[in-house]
Amino acid sequence: MLIPETDLETVPVLVPLALPAPYDYLVPEDAQLGPGSFVVAPLGPVKYVAAVWRRPEGAPAATVLRSKLRALVDVLDDVPPLPAISMDFAEWVAGYTLAPPGMVLRMMMSASTAFQPPAPRYGVRLAGPPPERMTPARTRVLETARNGLIWVKSLLAEAAGVSPGVIDGLVDAGTLVAEPLPDTIARELDPNLLRAELTAEQTKAAERLLHNTRDGFAVSLLDGVTGSGKTEVYFQAIAETLARGKQALVMIPEIALTSAFLARCEERFGARPTEWHSGLTQSARGRAWRAVAEGRAQLVVGARSALFLPFPKLGLIVVDEEHDQAYKQEDRVSYQARDMAVVRGHLGGCPVILSSATPSIESWVNADQGRYRHVPLRARYKAAGLPDLKAIDMRKSPPERGSWLSPVLTEAMAETLARGEQSLLFLNRRGYAPLTLCRNCGYRFECPNCSAWMVEHRFRHRLECHHCGKFAPIPEECPACGAEDSLVACGPGVERIAEEVGALFPEARRAILSSDMTPRISDLRETLREIEDREVDIVIGTQLVAKGHHFPGLALVGVVDSDLGLAQGDPRAAERTFQLLSQVTGRAGRETIAGRGLLQTYMPEHPVIEALISGDRDAFYEREIAARREAGMPPFGRLASLLISGTDRAATEAHSRAIARAAPPADKIKVLGPAEAPLSVVRGRYRYRILVKAPRENDIQAYLRLWIADMPKARGSIRLSIDIDPYTFL
Ligand code: ADP
Ligand code: ZN
Repeated sequence: MLIPETDLETVPVLVPLALPAPYDYLVPEDAQLGPGSFVVAPLGPVKYVAAVWRRPEGAPAATVLRSKLRALVDVLDDVPPLPAISMDFAEWVAGYTLAPPGMVLRMMMSASTAFQPPAPRYGVRLAGPPPERMTPARTRVLETARNGLIWVKSLLAEAAGVSPGVIDGLVDAGTLVAEPLPDTIARELDPNLLRAELTAEQTKAAERLLHNTRDGFAVSLLDGVTGSGKTEVYFQAIAETLARGKQALVMIPEIALTSAFLARCEERFGARPTEWHSGLTQSARGRAWRAVAEGRAQLVVGARSALFLPFPKLGLIVVDEEHDQAYKQEDRVSYQARDMAVVRGHLGGCPVILSSATPSIESWVNADQGRYRHVPLRARYKAAGLPDLKAIDMRKSPPERGSWLSPVLTEAMAETLARGEQSLLFLNRRGYAPLTLCRNCGYRFECPNCSAWMVEHRFRHRLECHHCGKFAPIPEECPACGAEDSLVACGPGVERIAEEVGALFPEARRAILSSDMTPRISDLRETLREIEDREVDIVIGTQLVAKGHHFPGLALVGVVDSDLGLAQGDPRAAERTFQLLSQVTGRAGRETIAGRGLLQTYMPEHPVIEALISGDRDAFYEREIAARREAGMPPFGRLASLLISGTDRAATEAHSRAIARAAPPADKIKVLGPAEAPLSVVRGRYRYRILVKAPRENDIQAYLRLWIADMPKARGSIRLSIDIDPYTFL
């Protein structure tokens, strides 16, 4: 029986799954809900926390078979509803990335405990009489807790150096009393606590920034060399935002950096901001989510995913190190967080600050064409000069056989060491050696699941695939010919450079900074602290060292292989190399020490190397922009990448061809491929790529939608993933 819609109260509900649209549900009697309300919706045998959505304007209310319609199971009325602006944003992102809206909602809801009743958290406080039986451990606890503060149990145990059982014993004895912990996820900040005295140039920049962030949406490109005080300057804009009672979001590219950044915010605003990244516990995520949704979190510092938090009154977005590749997400919903931050700002009438010493070409062009407002900072704070950079021509000053460091570099390291200052060697390659082969038969160790070599990690005594994570012990003999002691490591990784440094400077204290050597964030922070406190003489690191750290004792940066990134032939290789090497060499010579950088290269005449050495950044940008314009590459043209993968090579290739054949004809849009991806197999899946190239003024999404509607549907193991504005072409 068809029931007229007027007789039924139904609402569209968006379930956080890869579904094309919201579904209609019956509203339970007496339920109070509206767009954005969180509810529990049954779908098949499973119940999902989902959000009541809006019916598109002009769409008829549901007219449905009652028997088909299911009712909502629950209404989560103590969870703050998703703000309308978040719904606008979700729809926009879905439309742009071609991801199902439910998947964007899922990103917005990635804090499962936020949807459960908040569990009160208890700590303990020293409030009762001393226990009858004293032990040395108990005495230590009483000493530690004497300050009368409320302690998290595990932290008290750690501080007193006792097992958690000792704390429980004291609770049983009535000496320690359980008390609710205050919520520290969103403490109140003081915008005026510690304003820095700005230099004349900084004051000018701050005034422009404040002008730009005062009334609604505008994008500022804060463009200043490392150490010029960009952070100090945008803190002023944050302070104004907080003073107006609005929320501010600062995105930073690397979680390892958050703790230093949080400490700096705490100094400036009197309390730690709310942090948001993948390193949080589920409980902390849930509390942070709620604090944001309730508007209690005034300042959020987070990774790219923080952009999808449900801010009800966002008044400022800062994207720090806006050029960083970490802002591009490639799995599930693929998006570029810097670009989406501008969209979020536009939709919400909220200003955006993009900050960098080496802006992305995209932002540079936007500033050049007047869409963004350029706010420059030219001088480093105090007298700290920029490092003096030189190229080492490896053809003229080659390293000794079997080593990787030129005598020019090792001499500079020896001088630096003699002066008691620090050196940093940068090589963006983890492990010991990128390739292992048999001297006897030529066998090469390749990953069985991927078209990639197994990388030797000597420290962990194994061979690892950097694409799928497969690992195997390093064998004694060649698996192909059985020869013993015939395996040789080819090329260097950071571990091998560290070995060479150890042989050259046995007395120097060394540290390797690489994500696999310091897999835990706490270890990484400890290593960073040691470097900062000058407990290390020579640091050997991957790109982990490039990002924003402040090493006051660092005088020399040596780039082991400046050409490494240039070999990758993608459209952004030159830009990325320039940014990375500027950033790494920019670590040298802050504060009082004069810094220098030495770039080992086999092509010192390459434009990127020349631009770095001469310090003529603007000339590099001009040339790079001209080349992009010429080639119709972003931001002068649009790209989309279609990646087709499957476990059967022939079927995957055939399907890729069928997809390409279904491409609608269009004058200006080019469909290139399919071609086998450069990384042709990953995790046992064969990969083919199709690249779509369109002029800037074309609606590439509309074209793709048309195409998708007509293309053969993927069957079996075959999957298609679409990446708008791709950054990876492997
Ligand atoms: P950037 O973000 O451009 O790299 P920072 O804001 O981190 O620069 O500043 C670099 C260093 O100089 C920091 O230690 C910062 O505290 C200090 N600094 C910059 N400007 C000032 C200022 N006006 N007063 C005091 N310290 C400053
Ligand atoms: Zn692999």
